[in-house]
Amino acid sequence: TICVVGAGTMGHGIAAVGALAGHRVVLCDRDSDILDAAFKKITANYAKGVKLGKVAEEATAAALARLDRAKDLEVAARGVDCVVEAVPESIELKQMILSTAEKVAAAYVLLATNTSSLSVAAIASVLRHPSRLIGMHFFNPVHIMKLVEIVHHSGSDPSTIDEGRQLAIEMGKTPIVVRDSPGFASSRLGLVIGLEAMRMLEENVASAADIDTAMRLGYGHPMGPLELTDLVGLDVRLAIADYLVDEIGPAFSAPKILRDRVASGHLGRKSGAGFFRWNGKEKTTF
Ligand code: NAD
Repeated sequence: TICVVGAGTMGHGIAAVGALAGHRVVLCDRDSDILDAAFKKITANYAKGVKLGKVAEEATAAALARLDRAKDLEVAARGVDCVVEAVPESIELKQMILSTAEKVAAAYVLLATNTSSLSVAAIASVLRHPSRLIGMHFFNPVHIMKLVEIVHHSGSDPSTIDEGRQLAIEMGKTPIVVRDSPGFASSRLGLVIGLEAMRMLEENVASAADIDTAMRLGYGHPMGPLELTDLVGLDVRLAIADYLVDEIGPAFSAPKILRDRVASGHLGRKSGAGFFRWNGKEKTTF
């Protein structure tokens, strides 16, 4: 049984793939409306999967029957084998959730944090058994994206790392094992390409559309780095760059064009403009 804490963007997706993989899942959120919305989204995504022929209707019905919900964490995590937290990116909040959960979960519990940037070792530092914590960094949308970064800190037990890898595989994902270091593997590498693309735009090397086409057609990326930045949010990428420049070095220094666009409210798809203009999912160039 897996307890997923936080039923937002990531948590509802982790719960959905966990239940489909055959686990009992208790989805926990302090907000009942968010829990209701999460169950609606899971049901709709399962139905879409059936319609597209990706999953059998009986499998989704069985998965829904394995899904439970709870508002109270101490109830949700009681006796479970695994806790995956997907609450907002605050170290204090994640420490509080995981230390509460480990007190009521099974003695051998696997603890996982879905943090995209915080130090897993720092989160583990407040736990009774820090060796049981790893990062399981899922990607959005969870039911579609195949990658899970299994992030281990210096005190993670090797068996915990193996259990995390196994769980990711059962969920139909491809795990990679990464040491707890800033930006893990995905953000560190992805952001450096994104920032360099912005610098090229700033220097008029090519248009935004042509820089993106270079990476799509030249390297087989499904989406160019500037369109991807619009999708993630310019503000989100700026915050990660500012964090990594301190932690790793000047390769992550944010270009002026990024700061200026964020300051003028151009945050990407969510605000209608970033490096492209957006009308829903329709993209046009400036
Ligand atoms: P979100 O805001 O959509 O969801 C967080 C949920 O946690 C909310 O529903 C909130 O009600 C709930 N919550 C807050 N405090 C709680 C508490 N004390 N007890 C129970 N529930 C509580 O956030 P998200 O985008 O799903 O992100 C969650 C985590 O996943 C963050 O660490 C984020 O960095 C990481 N992450 C996000 C993405 C992404 O694309 N959104 C991708 C990878 C990783």
